[in-house]
Amino acid sequence: MISNERHAPIDAQQHDLSDQATHDDHGHDGDARPLWPALARGWRRKCPRCGNGPLLRSYLKMRENCTVCRQDFRPARADDGPAYLTILIVGHLMAPSLHIAFVKFRPEPLILFTIFAVGCVALSLYLLPRLKGMIVAYQWARQMFGFGAEHLPLEEQPAA
Ligand SMILES: [Zn+2]
Repeated sequence: MISNERHAPIDAQQHDLSDQATHDDHGHDGDARPLWPALARGWRRKCPRCGNGPLLRSYLKMRENCTVCRQDFRPARADDGPAYLTILIVGHLMAPSLHIAFVKFRPEPLILFTIFAVGCVALSLYLLPRLKGMIVAYQWARQMFGFGAEHLPLEEQPAA
């Protein structure tokens, strides 16, 4: 089998390669991993590959692999990226809001503090796991770290 493929005509080999790189109609990804659908799945904290299996267990812990399509999640390297993005977004939303609320409404200090303390914590807790999902999905879609072909589920490892 292997030697047959190796000695196949060159144009047939090239056709095979371009097929793998551009087409996604056989149910598995080959090299094509569309970024935006993957990011949307990450936002929903689902597997970036199939969109069905959960990405996280408990609040922020990564699962080892997808329970549906068996995608290996161990190459994920989100590190403190989700926290960075969360602070970036919450800060840029809350700081101007605090200024506007203070200048326009001038509420009781304790009321202002309570609203914004609860708001900051709630928004951060909401965003953190979703941004982690998006970062891992980005890494998967761009085949960063170990998310290349060698970490496909076992049944889709290219035959050696
Ligand atoms: Zn999956």
